[in-house]
Amino acid sequence: MTQTQSAEGAQGQPKVGYDDTPPIPRQTWKVHDSARPQPRVVTPGTESSPERAGTPPSDAVVLFDGTSLSGWTSVKGGGPAQWKVENGYAEVAPGTGDIQTKEEFGDCQLHVEWATPTEVVGHSQGRGNSGVFLMGRYEFQVLDCYQNPTYADGTAGAIYGEYPPLVNPARRPGEWQSYDIIWIAPRFEGDRLVSPAYATVILNGVVVQYHRELIGPTTHRKVADWVAHPPTGPLRLQDHKNPVRFRNIWYRSLKGWNTPEV
Ligand code: MG
Repeated sequence: MTQTQSAEGAQGQPKVGYDDTPPIPRQTWKVHDSARPQPRVVTPGTESSPERAGTPPSDAVVLFDGTSLSGWTSVKGGGPAQWKVENGYAEVAPGTGDIQTKEEFGDCQLHVEWATPTEVVGHSQGRGNSGVFLMGRYEFQVLDCYQNPTYADGTAGAIYGEYPPLVNPARRPGEWQSYDIIWIAPRFEGDRLVSPAYATVILNGVVVQYHRELIGPTTHRKVADWVAHPPTGPLRLQDHKNPVRFRNIWYRSLKGWNTPEV
């Protein structure tokens, strides 16, 4: 990339790229096109530590920053979320029901951190169970899976009832764990499914789902058909009667991810 870099660009900046290269197939730009816009700058966040949540990237929409659930409502009844907020996290208040964001979104990169109770109570699906529901419908399982056998498609990292995680990278009870989910929402035309949802999931830095094609919305002990819904939806967290904690929840929109003209 050095041969034609010496010329001046439009704003007096050193010119980068080339003007005499072939077009890239299915794009309007040439290879190394000097006129192609620069990628938008995003300042990355910081990593979390066991003691403290990290920070989101600069273009993230923060859903929970550790201080307030004012952006969330109770699914049961629609009033304010009843879960406990303290010490930088929100904790399931068993029996108050699921909570969901007022914010609605579709294609995204979602980050959620969670910790199951330090004190181990119960087994299988009764131990540290919660869930992260994209668009309020599609559950990515939260469960204490440290030496806790359960049915495979109910393991932490599972797309519940559809796909077990590729591996089980669970941390010990009480330790903070992280979900990074790349979510492509299903597309509908009227009542007809045009394209299913796809998910790639990283749990504790380990890929546990790669480009999985979902089968439909989450159900228990059955297989659900796709049901058309709006192109955006809330993030929902599950009250499964266990005091699971959450912190540092944010997403970045991936709108336009499949257009080459970015
Ligand atoms: Mg669950």
